[in-house]
Amino acid sequence: MKEKAVVLIVDDVRINLQTLAHILKDDYTVKMAQGGREALELVALDPIPDLILLDVGMSEVSGYDVCKMLREDIDTVHIPIIFVTGKDSIEDEEYGLSLGAVDYITKPIRPLIVKARIKTHITLKQQRDLLKTMAVSDQLTGLYNRHHLTDALIRKVARANRHDCPLSVILIDIDHFKNVNDTYGHLTGDDILREVGEVIGSVARKEDIAARFGGEEFVLVLDNCRLEDAYLKAERLRQKIETLSPSRLDITASFGVAELNLQINSCTLLLDSADKALYEAKNEGRNRVNMYKRPAVLQSI
Ligand code: GH3
Ligand code: MG
Ligand code: MG
Repeated sequence: MKEKAVVLIVDDVRINLQTLAHILKDDYTVKMAQGGREALELVALDPIPDLILLDVGMSEVSGYDVCKMLREDIDTVHIPIIFVTGKDSIEDEEYGLSLGAVDYITKPIRPLIVKARIKTHITLKQQRDLLKTMAVSDQLTGLYNRHHLTDALIRKVARANRHDCPLSVILIDIDHFKNVNDTYGHLTGDDILREVGEVIGSVARKEDIAARFGGEEFVLVLDNCRLEDAYLKAERLRQKIETLSPSRLDITASFGVAELNLQINSCTLLLDSADKALYEAKNEGRNRVNMYKRPAVLQSI
């Protein structure tokens, strides 16, 4: 069953909270905050609201100020806000909307109108979320797609260079995958990609990125991870894939590992180095992990 959307109601008068909650409780998961301060705390806690109903005239922090703060925060800027207020002048409404609220409802509350407006904005929010997810996801495996990986890796490389933090990547390529397709068909091939993708996704931490790079190639970007640790992680993953038997077939993969450093200092060089290491792993017989090593001529410099 589809989960209910979450609405956060913010008002410093308890009876107002209860009135709105009563109207919405059958259709939504309702969270309530009695004042701006509590709203700013609650908004970051699970379940994250899909929409906020925000009173304007509150004693400690006004609704306008809460709205401004939520709009300035990258984690909350996408949550639609509807002002629900007794301030019914055109100037008030214009000001509220100018702060980025999606709608402005005046008290006294008319339940059917409130419900209808909320439904419209929840639907728009859910459609936006779906499009956002589709834009960054690989359809077959549900992992991130190449487009997102490239975007995110550029940011991670810039941050790692700026703060001198370790950053490693693992490039993963399934061995002899063309034979699998040729022998068992494309649909079986797809099932295997899905299962291998699931294992790769399961080893990624929250701050890592697991992506399908294309075809039967995957990438893991490991934040705060040195080459040796990335190697160990890749080796554990290699063993997991070797024993996975997706679609009851013996599947293996080869791995190239590289770390950002003074020489390998860009997104392109990092992926390129991992690719070179992967190429060596293939040459050395496949089903193995290979770390990128600088060519001997450079090592002596
Ligand atoms: P190697 O061990 O050298 O990596 O050999 P390989 O056969 O895995 O590599 P190659 O690059 O020759 O072939 C990759 C194959 O992956 C060919 C292509 O048909 C298959 N492939 C790419 N994308 C998909 C997909 O979305 N679904 C399926 N089923 N197969 C795919
Ligand atoms: Mg390949
Ligand atoms: Mg391959």
